[in-house]
Amino acid sequence: MEDIIVRGTNPEGTMRVYSAITTQLTDKAVKIHNAYPVAAAALGRTLTGAALMGVSSLKNDGDSVTVQIKGDGETGSIIAVADSKGAVRGYIENPYVERPLNSQGKLDVGGAVGSGYLSVIKDMGLKEPYVGMVPLVSGEIAEDLTSYYAVSEQIPSCIALGVLVDTDGSVAASGGFMIQLMPGASDADADRLTKIISSLDSVTAMIKSGMSAADIFFKITDGFSMIMENAGIFPEYKCSCSKERMERELVSIGKTELERLINEDGHAELSCRFCGSKYNFDKAELISLLKRAKG
Ligand SMILES: [Zn+2]
Repeated sequence: MEDIIVRGTNPEGTMRVYSAITTQLTDKAVKIHNAYPVAAAALGRTLTGAALMGVSSLKNDGDSVTVQIKGDGETGSIIAVADSKGAVRGYIENPYVERPLNSQGKLDVGGAVGSGYLSVIKDMGLKEPYVGMVPLVSGEIAEDLTSYYAVSEQIPSCIALGVLVDTDGSVAASGGFMIQLMPGASDADADRLTKIISSLDSVTAMIKSGMSAADIFFKITDGFSMIMENAGIFPEYKCSCSKERMERELVSIGKTELERLINEDGHAELSCRFCGSKYNFDKAELISLLKRAKG
């Protein structure tokens, strides 16, 4: 099934709903990072959450949202960056996490992430990016993002994210949904939603059973009249690295460090942490970068 995000609202505009299937992009990320199942789930959930945030809250081409999970567990930091059109890329500090299943027989993402903080940086071309930070609630990612919306943006939300890893390590299903209540939503609506959500199967079970993003969209809003936009958004794992970007990274390490590279190594090879692409700089290139470096 093709990766897609569908979205819509109720006629009153008090309820915004997004439903995503991200199996392919998560599988691609897992292969790039060689992530073991628990890390794969943590990374896939973060990527899917970031894609949902990007599509729902960014407007312009150059805008980006960065979700950073900084827990004290084995995964280390997890980062996902998304734009307004569903392009997303990510990184997990330690992809080789091995952990027994949790008490519900599921991948123990919360245990692997540990406790710490979730931060969201929205860069919308303004002078200062918008930054919000909340403590992790469970490390299960969806709950943490829900808490971020409640605390930092005062938007009551329901977010579910799931990644199912096959026995061969590939991703069998990945996706999620997000429901947000806008001003004017009634308590009765919120109660009805809570009832629906608590009766649902997991996102991955729904995807595995063959439900499309649209099917999930209508399932999670069962009983509400909803308007789903016809045009879906097609999210994908896509890196935006370039030699220029790597040059800026090299410049930012400072004169002393660059001089050391030039004199001791005579060249530099940089690898993009999001996609693994390699960039080589020879001695002459490093020397020309030295002029741009500070300190
Ligand atoms: Zn890259």
